[in-house]
Amino acid sequence: MLAFAASAQHVEYSVLKESVLQERLKLASPKNAERCLRLKTLLAESGCQGAAFREQTVKGSREPNLICQTPAAGEQPRTIVVGAHFDAVGGDGVIDNWSGAVLLPSLFEFLATAPRRHNFQFVAFAGEEKGLLGSKAFVQSLSRSDRAQIAAVVTMDSLGLTPTKCWPNGSTKELISAAIQIAHSLDLEFTGVNMDRVATTDSASFMAAHIPVLSLHSVTGDTLRIINGKRDVLSAVSWKDYYDSHRFISALLVYLDQSLP
Ligand SMILES: [Zn+2]
Repeated sequence: MLAFAASAQHVEYSVLKESVLQERLKLASPKNAERCLRLKTLLAESGCQGAAFREQTVKGSREPNLICQTPAAGEQPRTIVVGAHFDAVGGDGVIDNWSGAVLLPSLFEFLATAPRRHNFQFVAFAGEEKGLLGSKAFVQSLSRSDRAQIAAVVTMDSLGLTPTKCWPNGSTKELISAAIQIAHSLDLEFTGVNMDRVATTDSASFMAAHIPVLSLHSVTGDTLRIINGKRDVLSAVSWKDYYDSHRFISALLVYLDQSLP
């Protein structure tokens, strides 16, 4: 399953073989119930089952949030949350947001292969397109001390249109800086495109709660028309950009685990 482990600034990370990721991307279904089921199966196949797995009911959504947890080995562990919504509204919802959701099983698997300083929670959010329902439910379920324990949240929404972007107005400065360092060490393009005027995404639920968050996407003014409509199918994916996003996010999570207090 693991194609190779590479080093970027002493960051050892893993990626899926391209063929494996391509097969997973093809599993995008237009139906939310089916998307939830397929994701749950992929998570289980990636080792997220038993005590590592739980479902969280989301009011207003038939599907629950799917949550996978890895334990921490550090002395003063905090929590790093990695989230992507799995529900869709147009076409096969490949870009928006199977592209982000389907990375969760592999990221869980990679992070679980070695002891990490911090706890990781991988959350597949339900009901994003109905008003960020899943991420709001997740944030509301956190106690005050749970919130304080969160070192970072990384959200992924609509990858694979262009090289990875962040939403600067929807992200915390320190996390943007960390991402820039990893992008630089991997020699990847990484720029900011604000989405405030045209869209929203799950990172907004964390920003509103003053939780540090990095909002990743790949949408630009030119590509916005592809999502939320019938154009959102497999052929819309720029494969090199998507695979680069996979590498980038895999390395970034290891780096955040190593560098965040
Ligand atoms: Zn989305």
